[in-house]
Amino acid sequence: MATPAERLALVREQLDATAVKAGREPRDVRLLAVGKTFAPEVLQQFYQAGQRDFGENRVQEAEEKVKQLPATIRWHLIGHLQTNKAAQALRLFSMIHSVDTAKLARRLERLAGEQGKICRALIQVDLAGEEAKFGLPLEELTSLLEEAASYRHLHVTGLMVLPPFTLDPEDVRPYYRRLRELALRAQEGGLLGNHGPVELSMGMSQDYLVAVQEGATLVRVGTALFGPRQPTGAAADND
Ligand SMILES: *Cc1c(COP(=O)(O)O)cnc(C)c1O
Repeated sequence: MATPAERLALVREQLDATAVKAGREPRDVRLLAVGKTFAPEVLQQFYQAGQRDFGENRVQEAEEKVKQLPATIRWHLIGHLQTNKAAQALRLFSMIHSVDTAKLARRLERLAGEQGKICRALIQVDLAGEEAKFGLPLEELTSLLEEAASYRHLHVTGLMVLPPFTLDPEDVRPYYRRLRELALRAQEGGLLGNHGPVELSMGMSQDYLVAVQEGATLVRVGTALFGPRQPTGAAADND
């Protein structure tokens, strides 16, 4: 298998080429290296190859890694966050992609205020109905964005989606297109885009090129960089 630096370069080249073909700026597509289940030493190799944004889906696991790895890393929480771990998550992560209830959003806003910090966050939208384990129901999106517009510490900058698993990357295209349309509409309504460019967190190892074609600004890539994860149930679950 290629070295971490080679794998990183390959994914980045593909992202850049796809962005250019889609008429987009490569620098508008940020790559998150999703190193969940991998040891800090493995993440360190990607850091040395120049990677700075890392995604984790468990607060506990991230805490260990944050302690051991360079402080210049930007950590992104991409998995479900329990409200009782919100304070800890705010201390560790520079962006939370998985805000999926109004209750969690309110708590993050309050706690970020108490910690005297600004946290960037995305709302994870459930576009698959009952197939999805997590995500805000679509019919609640506008009211949460309206509420979040007055937040001072939690800056909601965009949307995230985790589509149902499929074998064919083309099957997820409608989800990504829909997320972009929702974000555009929210932006037109003045509910997104007040804290800089609107972010769309979508795309994983199987389908990140489709996601870039559909407007992703953050792609969350694990397997294509790190190789397959151990298929333990615990590792696949969120906390
Ligand atoms: C694990 C994970 C990813 C990365 O998945 P790969 O298929 O390994 O690229 C992306 N997003 C979320 C929310 C994840 O939990």
